[in-house]
Amino acid sequence: MFRPNPAGAFSVRALLGSIMPSGVMPHLEATVAASTPSLPALADLDPATLARQFAAWGCKPSHAARVLRAFYSGNEIVSSPARGLPQELLTRLRTEFSPSSATLAARQVAADGTTKLLLRLGDGRTVESVLMPDFRADRAAGCISSQVGCAMGCDFCATTKTGFERNLTAGEIVEQFLALRREASAVGRKLQTVVFMGMGEPLLNLDAVLTAVRRLADNALGGLGWRQITVSTVGIVPGIEALTAAGLNIHLAVSLHAPDDATRARLLPMGKRIPIADILAAADRFQARRGRPVTIQYCLLAGVNDSQEHARLLAELLGSRRMHINLLRYNPTGLSLRGVAYEPSSDATAEAFAAVLRERKLVAHFRRSRGPDIDAACGQLRRRTSSGARAAVGGDL
Ligand code: SF4
Repeated sequence: MFRPNPAGAFSVRALLGSIMPSGVMPHLEATVAASTPSLPALADLDPATLARQFAAWGCKPSHAARVLRAFYSGNEIVSSPARGLPQELLTRLRTEFSPSSATLAARQVAADGTTKLLLRLGDGRTVESVLMPDFRADRAAGCISSQVGCAMGCDFCATTKTGFERNLTAGEIVEQFLALRREASAVGRKLQTVVFMGMGEPLLNLDAVLTAVRRLADNALGGLGWRQITVSTVGIVPGIEALTAAGLNIHLAVSLHAPDDATRARLLPMGKRIPIADILAAADRFQARRGRPVTIQYCLLAGVNDSQEHARLLAELLGSRRMHINLLRYNPTGLSLRGVAYEPSSDATAEAFAAVLRERKLVAHFRRSRGPDIDAACGQLRRRTSSGARAAVGGDL
């Protein structure tokens, strides 16, 4: 059984050692160092830290909250004048801090407005973030990454094919949010919700994710509100327990993708180590504590997990729970790690699957397929770009 280290923090290696088959561990080598941009990024700072810095410079600590509020709202505080702030302070800020440690390496815009960004971090590694237009013309949702690559090895996922490189810092997560907010603003939309469903397993980078979540939800900074934030996991039970204990009023999504352990283990290596029953028990505790339904994510794969029997098993599993089911359309990503060419379920099969769930009074929705004309699946754009194929538009953020 995994235990947090004495400081209460999660170690990716210790946790993976407790749940992963040995073949996946090599992905971890030379991976967990944080990036080292030449100047510290403003996005890495919270108001208290910046206030201490200002005091050390002989400036008013109370300016820190104003500076960060302006920075989070899109004001280029470091590169343009800011009303009411001493010139000396702004000069020092511009000299000693960078407005961003990330640059835009590639950008794709789909016909439906879905925009995928590939951000190059301070150490040259890249991560993906996605802006998804909402049904409402003035709203958008963002999908952000928590790690560079991923060690989870989900067999149908493009991200995991390049393995795990390192955890993102809280600042790098915040920078994705700010980049997506700028993208949304440029097309007249407000970034209304954020989901941690991009590259990586958020609960294996819990400290940074929680720090970033607190900043995004802080009225004085990101201003999203707790309920506008969803953290998704493939079922890291100690992480779900820690998230529950953190007491944040956010949403939890669990990527189940199968109703039984045998099917799940074929799709997710960690499914061999963590039974579905344990994952759902942890999700039950989160739901009881937070008082709102956990979302179960289920990606329908033709001939793999989409039969009527699979639907009946899923209905039995969730029957007494108040959880919501998100049925996902699969975006093919070529041959998987195990050499399987997964295909999406047909419309008829998917509808029949949903009908079984609804007959049993379960709440099941299809999540809209986004950006089918771009590299929409998680990790696709990064793989294409790193393999030398032509990227879209590059430039500074
Ligand atoms: S689906 Fe998510 S958790 Fe699974 S390998 Fe891909 S990025 Fe990692």
